[in-house]
Amino acid sequence: MNSVWQKALDCFKEEVSTSNYRTWFSKTSATLENNKLLIETPSSFVKDQLTTKLRPLVEKVVTSLYGKVELEFSVNPSLGGQKEEVENSLELSLPISVNLPNNNLNTRYTLENFVVGLSNNLAFAAGQAVVQNPGISYNPLFIYGGTGVGKTHLMVGIGHALRKKNPNLRIIYCSSEKFTNDFVQSIQSKRTGDFRAKYRSCDLLLVDDIQFISGRDATQEEFFHTFNELQSKNSQIILTSDRSPHEIDKLEGRLQSRFQGGLMVDIQQPDFDTRVAILKAKCQEKGDIVSQECLTLIAGGMPTNGRELEGKLIQILQASKLNNQPLNLDFVKKFLGKTYQLTKIDHKKVVLGINHYFNIKSADLVGPRRQKELVIPRQFAMYLLYEECKLPFERIGELLGGRDHTTIMHGVDKIKEGIQRDREMQRILIEIKQTLAS
Ligand code: ADP
Ligand code: MG
Repeated sequence: MNSVWQKALDCFKEEVSTSNYRTWFSKTSATLENNKLLIETPSSFVKDQLTTKLRPLVEKVVTSLYGKVELEFSVNPSLGGQKEEVENSLELSLPISVNLPNNNLNTRYTLENFVVGLSNNLAFAAGQAVVQNPGISYNPLFIYGGTGVGKTHLMVGIGHALRKKNPNLRIIYCSSEKFTNDFVQSIQSKRTGDFRAKYRSCDLLLVDDIQFISGRDATQEEFFHTFNELQSKNSQIILTSDRSPHEIDKLEGRLQSRFQGGLMVDIQQPDFDTRVAILKAKCQEKGDIVSQECLTLIAGGMPTNGRELEGKLIQILQASKLNNQPLNLDFVKKFLGKTYQLTKIDHKKVVLGINHYFNIKSADLVGPRRQKELVIPRQFAMYLLYEECKLPFERIGELLGGRDHTTIMHGVDKIKEGIQRDREMQRILIEIKQTLAS
């Protein structure tokens, strides 16, 4: 480590907690050349943090030491520790909550405005049963399904309904990441007693996206005891997850069996009728009037989830207001045509993004070499070209140096499989998608 950067590192050490320092700064390196400070980071994840959230701090320290210099960031994997950092960063990057107020339930999500259809009627019925008989009939209630299908909405809606029945109910709603953060924080500040007092004394515990507890041994241990204590007091527990308990990787067996010990219900992607009804409900909520035939058209495209539907509706409403055009069938048709083209990602961008992310040359990505370290980047390229650019297998094969379409199919499947169960793969995919979106 050169002494120029060491001074800056010493400053960062002063400014942030030890664990944050270790995660975000300890493996960085930098050189100063002609008024330009080149900062190298071990992973794109660290780089992202330094260039966004931590940028003000970096600038402050750098300016105080070197005066006004230009900053440039790059990734240098040889600085090491990529895996570890991604693991740790979740615990450290999110804001640490001190006290959960008893009213942090999103008021937009109620059972009254939850649209019930074929895809979710079992889950809804289970929710109603829990409202009738909390802590007894279905404890825990485990709601699982893909993203945007309404898991959080339903869970929060149950929370509101129970609060209505009993306004004094002590409710904690948190994501599993928040639970983890609170726990880690409580250890660091030697206040695990407070942490336990808080989480074990509620009447209703709602934990969103419990799948992220995967691989976190200490948190799982803590959650196990929280769970047992609440259950023994007949306090209701509701969990959501993007997959069923036995599909959650690196989940302790005893937690898996606890999660399966109440009622598990899944929510599917909404069918066409439910999609139309969701759109209608969203219009009503916003006070906008959109004709049935327009809603039908918006819902009719590709199968999507509640979140995407709402997003599309908001875009269309905005566009019609901005352009001062009536929201009629013609307008929707034109709009959908345009956005489909706009959202389509260019294949060149995908290839460049992959090269950049994995730090490999384009020639290597499309080349014939079969080295292990090229396999994963290639498969991610195949997957993204297929899923994001909607290209046929044959065309992807051409783009990737004349590969056979069966090779492409195999590659796409590999990633599909991988992201179902492997958190590291999920992280990589999210990171690449973020760089593509920016
Ligand atoms: P998830 O937690 O499953 O990812 P959310 O609960 O956050 O999904 O839902 C995403 C969006 O879609 C929210 O705005 C939600 O209100 C809406 N949504 C999803 N399903 C329904 C439904 N059945 N009725 C009304 N809104 C829904
Ligand atoms: Mg959710």
